[in-house]
Amino acid sequence: MVEKTSPTQVFPSLEGALKHFFGYDQFRPGQRRVIEAVLKNQDALVIMPTGGGKSLCYQLPALLKLGVMVVVSPLIALMQDQVDSLQDNGIAATCLNSALDYDTLCQREAALRAGQVNLLYVSPERLMRPGGVQLLEHLMQTVGVSGFAIDEAHCVSEWGHDFRPEYRQLSTLRERFPQVAVIALTATATERVRQDIAQQLRLRDPLIQVSSFNRANLFYEVRPKGRDSYQTLRQQVKQHQGSGIIYCLSRKRVDELAQRLTVDGESVLPYHAGLSDQVRRDNQTRFIRDDVRLMVATVAFGMGINKPDVRFVIHYDIPRNIEGYYQESGRAGRDGEPAHCTLYLAYGDVATADYLISQKPDAEEQRIARQQLRQMVDYAEATVCRRQVQLSYFGETLNGLCHQCDNCINPPPLEDWTIEAQKFLSCVARCQERFGMTHIIDVLRGSKKQKILDLKHDRLSTHGIGKDRSVDEWRLLGRSLLHQRLVDETTDGYPVLKLNAASWQILRQQLPVQVAVAQRFADAPSEMVDRPEVAQLLSILKTLRKQLADQQSVPPYVVFPESALRQMAQTRPQTLESFSQVSGVGRRKLDQYGQVFTDRIRQFCADYGLESDPGAARRSRPGRERHQRVGDTHRHTLALYHQGLSVEAIASQRGLRPSTIASHLERLIRQGETVDLDRLVAPEDQRAIQAVLTEMGDSSLTDIRDRLGPTYSYEAIRLVRACQRA
Ligand code: ADP
Ligand code: ZN
Repeated sequence: MVEKTSPTQVFPSLEGALKHFFGYDQFRPGQRRVIEAVLKNQDALVIMPTGGGKSLCYQLPALLKLGVMVVVSPLIALMQDQVDSLQDNGIAATCLNSALDYDTLCQREAALRAGQVNLLYVSPERLMRPGGVQLLEHLMQTVGVSGFAIDEAHCVSEWGHDFRPEYRQLSTLRERFPQVAVIALTATATERVRQDIAQQLRLRDPLIQVSSFNRANLFYEVRPKGRDSYQTLRQQVKQHQGSGIIYCLSRKRVDELAQRLTVDGESVLPYHAGLSDQVRRDNQTRFIRDDVRLMVATVAFGMGINKPDVRFVIHYDIPRNIEGYYQESGRAGRDGEPAHCTLYLAYGDVATADYLISQKPDAEEQRIARQQLRQMVDYAEATVCRRQVQLSYFGETLNGLCHQCDNCINPPPLEDWTIEAQKFLSCVARCQERFGMTHIIDVLRGSKKQKILDLKHDRLSTHGIGKDRSVDEWRLLGRSLLHQRLVDETTDGYPVLKLNAASWQILRQQLPVQVAVAQRFADAPSEMVDRPEVAQLLSILKTLRKQLADQQSVPPYVVFPESALRQMAQTRPQTLESFSQVSGVGRRKLDQYGQVFTDRIRQFCADYGLESDPGAARRSRPGRERHQRVGDTHRHTLALYHQGLSVEAIASQRGLRPSTIASHLERLIRQGETVDLDRLVAPEDQRAIQAVLTEMGDSSLTDIRDRLGPTYSYEAIRLVRACQRA
């Protein structure tokens, strides 16, 4: 048992406490606001996307307030994971759930009563049963309860995708413990569910924090899934570094794909509801601990997984709706580092999904499901910015383009397919509007299938007039016509194509048809390009992290997040002092791991005749710079800049210093990127800086700054100079 952290410790600022306990330098957007509210005992409703940093919103107050913070969490696996992470930061956390034996339960309850615990994780059913409520009442009167944090709060709503009846009982907490603040947290985006949460949990004048659902570090792309898609997938898996999840529609497909990848030498395990609990648990643990790199899974996988360093998520089959896709793909890059989301689109899969929907007993349910699937296909076929489509689905608008999706990077060309559309539609007419797309395409391509012969459709004038196009191309056209509402389709489960007014206009040559030809691959950003010595040290540090993690039986990211290791590899800190500067190194991590990590880094530096490079992440020496290429990190900054974020906001989102962001922008300006200087440096400051630059020519930065005075930052001077030179 960890000693209780003393809440009487005084910190000069919330940032000081953040660095001390968690090792981070800055809050993520929204965190500070919630934490301040919770410290004042105000209720809060926190809506942040996955990876937004919800946990910190109650974890930090738990360490600064007297009493126990009670965290209600629906999944035991998730609970244990959080408790492990906290304990590794030297924080007194524990959990109570049905998986524990009697002795352990007694021990933990005793520690709670003795006031040795800051954070208690508990399942709703455990909390709400008589013993649980008694324990709470006892704690309330003795050591105190600092708040109730309801994690995954959307589970309280029938309108959510994950309703749990046990969550309903939580409403009684408010009556029994009126003086304790309730903090509800969720990543669910829809307004309906948000309102339901506030109502069901009887939140009292809550602070409502809705963060943007824009996951700026994720790259989104859609690829066509053709005959050779398995090879494409394998290629992609090889190109990516780090852990990945591949989602498939059914158990059968999971098994097949996992097997095939295994045979081809990939490190992979399957996960679906057809496997025994034990196997599922084992596979999950091996994935979380980086013993295996890939998880091929149905959507059953992921809810309880808190692995922050998943580098890519591939949907090999089409997801059922956009919200589901957003949540599943959002399991990539929770740590804020760049990650990649790919969706493979095959119309056969859409048909399968549609068939599954038609098996649903309820007509209303079918209707909704169909509509959602159609929206999903719309997303996949979109020729505009993917992020715009996603965010508009959640009622949010993105200003400008994201520059982080396939369509932004490589806009698909529009082609005039009027002639093809006329062939297609006249074929629909000749078949008397009684058939679906597959049949129409068969006729167009001159098929001699029995069904065609029986119907005498081989005698139609349109039979065989479309041999010059592939089945996939005809499908692309057909779908495109549907999405543009240029033809209709019946929705009674047997999709039959019907002509509408627009179809007739096309047939009468009154309306041209444009199709976005989606058969192209995005030139996605390459993986992080590190200098060789950085890559090598990074891999050494990863091995060390894995050893330490295995010794303690925890996942590697619990020891250090990926970003911290990368910063270590870049800056090569050899003293405890410089090691403590790394973002992610708090006091406890410094004590626990500082020595062994700096030893290893020193050894590496000695072997290769290298020194520490304390400014590597920050500095940009003009002489060196010209030889350095613009890497992912610069592009990432640029993408956020294009989304309208200020230097400070980019810095906070990326967990970097504003000066680093400024140096990225400076580099980009030098490389010819157009950047609006007015957004970075106030126009009157620009004028002053320009005047001095003109006057002093090539003088050193320090001299220029001395002339300007201390109100002018080095960053501003460098940005103005870069623009002037460009
Ligand atoms: P959520 O529950 O919203 O999905 P988490 O609370 O699990 O997100 O946080 C996601 C990741 O971000 C974790 O690895 C966490 O340690 C990290 N994180 C949270 N807050 C910060 C911060 N202020 N600076 C850097 N990293 C942070
Ligand atoms: Zn985009």
